[in-house]
Amino acid sequence: MLLEPVMMRIEEVIQESSLVRSFIFKKSLEYQPGQFIMLWIPRLDEKPFSISYHGKDFFGVTVALKGRFTQGLHEMKVGEWVGIRGPFGRAFNLEAGRACPEPIRFRACVVGGGVGMASLAVLIERLEDSVVVQGARTAAELLYRNRFKDMLLCTEDGSAGTKGVPTDLLEDLYRHYRFDAIYTCGPEAMMVKVLEFAREHNIYMQASLERYIKCAVGVCGQCCCNGLRLCVEGPVLDGGTLEKLEDFGRYARLGNGRRVPIGTYLGKKT
Ligand SMILES: Cc1cc2nc3c(=O)[nH]c(=O)nc-3n(C[C@H](O)[C@H](O)[C@H](O)COP(=O)(O)OP(=O)(O)OC[C@H]3O[C@@H](n4cnc5c(N)ncnc54)[C@H](O)[C@@H]3O)c2cc1C
Repeated sequence: MLLEPVMMRIEEVIQESSLVRSFIFKKSLEYQPGQFIMLWIPRLDEKPFSISYHGKDFFGVTVALKGRFTQGLHEMKVGEWVGIRGPFGRAFNLEAGRACPEPIRFRACVVGGGVGMASLAVLIERLEDSVVVQGARTAAELLYRNRFKDMLLCTEDGSAGTKGVPTDLLEDLYRHYRFDAIYTCGPEAMMVKVLEFAREHNIYMQASLERYIKCAVGVCGQCCCNGLRLCVEGPVLDGGTLEKLEDFGRYARLGNGRRVPIGTYLGKKT
């Protein structure tokens, strides 16, 4: 783990959709799916991003254009340098399948919404048997379509895949695939529904949450969610923990520490 930022050269930029780009670094980084890094642009800021590409000697992040920082990053070209520290946080539990008696094979369902797919991408590559469903507003916003060819797609306007949201498909998918675990990342309202579904069917589930992260090492308390430091005890939490989390789907803290309804947090510049 890099505790202080190490300057790394951007080796490749991939245009994933009109507002989403991936930045690839040719460095080896020990990492588990679900963890995040802090990316520093000198004189601008430092922000958290999930690792969305990972191999023996490379890793990458996938970044949606939102405000000042992501604008600055999107303007950067191959050959420019940024600071990286991490990876930090709790990863997805890939051992969940160990509880399955042989010869029954562990099967997972992965539910991603929007840029939440970034946090799930390497997990999908590491799962041996999974069904993946991705939701987006429109076809143009879908990510990694060539990377995960069998992925099921949903769009809110019906421009690709099924019209609707991924959680509309869960009942049918479960009837068909009988998965043993669900992993999710995306809009919190979607993850709340995934949790309800998992509880109803008694399925193991984990979700990766987004809260405002500053120090990333559990010291500043900025990302606290009902007493849990998301940067250390999260961002991945399991269903049992989420059920007890009063703020899940309801509240988050802005950059100034104020606790606001989750919609305000996601929509407001902080
Ligand atoms: C663990 C974790 C992993 C993330 N992974 C990704 C990813 O893979 N791809 C991606 O595009 N985004 C990811 N994000 C969100 C990303 O950090 C913010 O969208 C980004 O910092 C926005 O910065 P901005 O200046 O462009 O936008 P701003 O206008 O400053 O903010 C837009 C919104 O981004 C969120 N945000 C801003 N600053 C932070 C911060 N320091 N920590 C958390 N959220 C913040 C808030 O919801 C805010 O309303 C992740 C966040 C967390 C906590």
